[in-house]
Amino acid sequence: MARRFEAIVCTDVTLQAAAEVGERLREWLLREEILLPELNAEQAHPAGSQAVQTITCSCGQAGVDGDFPGAAKLIIGRNIYWSEWGHNLHCPVCQYAFEPEDDEALEAMAQWERGEPAGEVGCPDCGLRRPLTDWDSDWGYGNLGIEFWDWQPLAYSFVHRVGRLTDSRVTVAHGGRG
Ligand SMILES: [Zn+2]
Repeated sequence: MARRFEAIVCTDVTLQAAAEVGERLREWLLREEILLPELNAEQAHPAGSQAVQTITCSCGQAGVDGDFPGAAKLIIGRNIYWSEWGHNLHCPVCQYAFEPEDDEALEAMAQWERGEPAGEVGCPDCGLRRPLTDWDSDWGYGNLGIEFWDWQPLAYSFVHRVGRLTDSRVTVAHGGRG
């Protein structure tokens, strides 16, 4: 049974800037007590006393009481936030959801992992072609991101704060890996 994750991926952060921006993000998460400084066996920070900030709006509504399980892992460096639960891309032209053709998707990912722009994949319905990383999807691609494991659904307000702090566009990837 795969475990569930959500990841905030900072898509504008360059590889060169990822370490500096990532450490700034980590410092902020620790200072706000959203995460604890220690690392668990999976190199993730356990949830801190203010982790509830990540799942509630800023209107002050309390979300959960008591223990907040889960941990978050900061990933610095080029990474694919992939899921075992499928790889659906959503076509903006024909509204079709499809899985990209395997060979095409693997080649597109390999190009991106080498530091090149991702290769293109096509919609089987209308034929639209664009780089794999540009499709609306449950997967994410970036040089900096945070994976939240065994966490409650992230609030948009928190995702937005991460975007402001890193001065980057952000996407949320989600799915499961076991
Ligand atoms: Zn299409």
